[in-house]
Amino acid sequence: MIVMKFGGSSVESAAAIERVAKIVAGRRRERPLVIVSAMAKTTDRLVEIGESAAAGRRAKALRLLEALREFHDRETAALGEQEILRPIFEELTELVHGLAVLGELTPRARDAVMSYGERLSSLIVARYFAHFGLLAVHVDSQRCMITDDRHTQAQPLDAPTRARMKKLAAPQIAAGKIVVMGGFIGATRSGVTTTLGRGGSDYSAAIFGAALGAKRIEIWTDVDGVLTADPRVYAHAKPVPQISFEEAAELAYFGAKVLHPATILPAIEKNIPVQVLNSRRPEAKGTRIARRAAAAGQFRAIACKRNITLVDITSTRMLMAYGFLARIFQVFAAHHTSVDMIATTEVSVSLTVDDTRHLKPIVAELQRIARVEVSGGKAIVCLVGDNVRPTPGISGRVFTAIRDVNVIMISQGASERNLSFVIAETDLPRAVRLLHEAFFK
Ligand code: ASP
Ligand code: MG
Repeated sequence: MIVMKFGGSSVESAAAIERVAKIVAGRRRERPLVIVSAMAKTTDRLVEIGESAAAGRRAKALRLLEALREFHDRETAALGEQEILRPIFEELTELVHGLAVLGELTPRARDAVMSYGERLSSLIVARYFAHFGLLAVHVDSQRCMITDDRHTQAQPLDAPTRARMKKLAAPQIAAGKIVVMGGFIGATRSGVTTTLGRGGSDYSAAIFGAALGAKRIEIWTDVDGVLTADPRVYAHAKPVPQISFEEAAELAYFGAKVLHPATILPAIEKNIPVQVLNSRRPEAKGTRIARRAAAAGQFRAIACKRNITLVDITSTRMLMAYGFLARIFQVFAAHHTSVDMIATTEVSVSLTVDDTRHLKPIVAELQRIARVEVSGGKAIVCLVGDNVRPTPGISGRVFTAIRDVNVIMISQGASERNLSFVIAETDLPRAVRLLHEAFFK
């Protein structure tokens, strides 16, 4: 069997769900288990409804709820069976009144409110599949995803979840039915609603896939998978056919937002490959994330981060005394500011931060022990690839490719799969283009 997970924009409307049904029908032989997110921005809306109600703005909460109901009604009009949604919305309305009376939104109540998005979408998608002629059944995720009780960030419990999946979903799949379930939601052992954290449907897909020993997990989104560069910086970025889990993790840190690798860890641990695909262009090959990925030239992708500030700190003594670095980092830590890149010499330290909210007091404190220079408007470019470290001459080739770009700071080694450097933000598009031409042609 395989798992196919569709995100909120892939199921945002009746038309989108029809596209999804076609994609799933094409995979019928592989016995898909389909996991869906809430339709479009439903979860955000639900949060707003819950917060308004608890803040005593009952009328506003009910107005938002009405809009949400209209949206779901409209997108299910073609089914002609809206009565299936009515009890769910009635329950949610009661909940809103309850919250307005209580005047607080505990994490447990927040989970209850947020769960309606996937409860609705999974039911709707299952009905649409049947409407389009697929043999589909809905299985209640809250009876299968058994979690601890850390509300809004609940952790799945492996053994009971596996047991429930084997009991409730596996026989249906074995019987040739397409099982549809909601992502993101679960319940404690005693049946209290929980959620796995925002964006948690990918995690659901990985947990369910691992529980049933899936051959593959497909994450369907609205982009062509992982790209060789940020398309906003370089328009000719190409999809990356395959990538290792560690490379994907490295890219995610740099803000490549396709999916968060931590969410697919349960699949990677079981050696189940994860394929990222585009539901608007199902013919595109997408990106395969696996424990190991075949070598692809020198680098897998170029990541970058804009809006970086460089801080140069020079010891006012001749040499850095011991404890100098510790003192510097204490100052940053005390102000809850994380440092991204670091380079040091005997007398100075250069580092970068992207959060400058606390920079003023940080600089004031550092100035007691050092000379400090701050310069904004920088960017970090990061070349990611499992082969970065073992390849001799690689930095020579990188810096030859961008020889007329002024490189301000370099770091290689913190991880074996990353070569990073700092440049002026204005040089970023040119640097990324030159590197892309040199390494991805
Ligand atoms: N619907 C949930 C959210 O928006 C979970 C997900 O989309 O993965 O956070
Ligand atoms: Mg989402």
